[in-house]
Amino acid sequence: MRGRVLRPGEALSAAIARVLAEPETMRRCARCRRPRPLRLFYWNPHMLDGWSFWCMTCHQEHYREAVA
Ligand SMILES: [Zn+2]
Repeated sequence: MRGRVLRPGEALSAAIARVLAEPETMRRCARCRRPRPLRLFYWNPHMLDGWSFWCMTCHQEHYREAVA
């Protein structure tokens, strides 16, 4: 026992790094309906599986439409 406690942030970074190390992991975007690599999705702790429903492109388009 070294008595070192892993902080939540460290565990999260490790989980993200593990997913990003597998570029073949695909996820279908709920907005554009295209299967895209998981690294093109935002990490979202509020989602059930930890990843956003929309790809980064859709998020950016949605944001542009929202501010236009
Ligand atoms: Zn999309």
